[in-house]
Amino acid sequence: MITRDKIDKILEEYRGKDIAIATMCSHTALQLFYAAKKEGIKTVGICTRETKKVYEAFPLAKPDEFLMVDSYRDPFPEDELVARNAIVIPHGSLVEYQKDRFVDLKVPIFGNRMSLFYEKNRHLMYKWMQESGLKTPKIYTPENIEGPAIVKLPGAKGGQGYRIVKSSEDFEKNFSHLTEEERERIMIQEFISGIRLYPHFFFTKIFEDRGYPTNNGRVELMGMDRRIETNIDEIYRPLAAGIQTTPNFSICANSEIVVRESLLKDIFEMGKKVSDASFKLFGGLYGPFCVETVCTDNLEFIGFEISSRIVAGTNVSAFGSIYSGFSYGKWVGMGNRIVKEILKARELGILNEMVF
Ligand code: AMP
Repeated sequence: MITRDKIDKILEEYRGKDIAIATMCSHTALQLFYAAKKEGIKTVGICTRETKKVYEAFPLAKPDEFLMVDSYRDPFPEDELVARNAIVIPHGSLVEYQKDRFVDLKVPIFGNRMSLFYEKNRHLMYKWMQESGLKTPKIYTPENIEGPAIVKLPGAKGGQGYRIVKSSEDFEKNFSHLTEEERERIMIQEFISGIRLYPHFFFTKIFEDRGYPTNNGRVELMGMDRRIETNIDEIYRPLAAGIQTTPNFSICANSEIVVRESLLKDIFEMGKKVSDASFKLFGGLYGPFCVETVCTDNLEFIGFEISSRIVAGTNVSAFGSIYSGFSYGKWVGMGNRIVKEILKARELGILNEMVF
């Protein structure tokens, strides 16, 4: 992994110059570009030829400059980005396409790349959830599966290829093709039933007049969504038509959700615990994160995953949510919130604390 010293040196060179906000044209790029442009910051989109037309379709959210690549798996244009004084905002596609390379990228990344490293490795992520004291699903090995379990393949592929198995025999029947290495990297979790809720948090230690206190700063609740996954979320349709269907969990959309107000305390507590544990484990997560949860029949939250960067669900509230409205009195989305933090940190001369 690149050292903090090297990134600090790059940031030092940005001092006194105009910065740019850069990201890959995918995932949450539209809201990030829109928010940065609104603040008069230059935006740079790393883009493929086919995707460019999509971003050109939205004049207020189109990046000021495109850096073209053949594929999002290509090496990241680090030098071009540094030459533009860019800070990269990481999102799910960057983590997925750049694989383990993102930890070495020689360009400043908003947040702490260590948190992405924890997110990327399912076992480290589970350690983080346990250190947080979250209630979590049981974890099985292929040999001891008891009852319905969800088998998660390595990488943040948006649920694609996940499968429910009922027993160890069922697992072997469906996953005998896995290599030893793949078997090591999958995770088998107890299948939790209930309502899925994805709260969008933002950790700050700069702004103290809003949010929920943590040991190191505050977590703001910027919004909440529910994912819509194909085909599990409309599986009643093929079943009603008499079509035998295997559940699949590929994310295709998100919808905004507002919870019963008495649940907000538990939601904030989860955000606080995950934030506190991040400081114990790897020096703290800054900026946006999400705890993926299921709220069970007795209104208990079970956390099954942490996303340690902006999540695609924030797109539903790119112009603000009920919750961000109660903090800001105007429509502030996660993109605006990130840009606001960067500008303030720059003004205070502490950008290096939340960029690595
Ligand atoms: P993930 O990659 O962990 O975000 O999971 C993708 C989707 O699979 C989630 O959005 C849920 O719909 C479903 N899922 C993941 N873990 C569980 C679990 N332990 N119990 C029930 N559903 C789950």
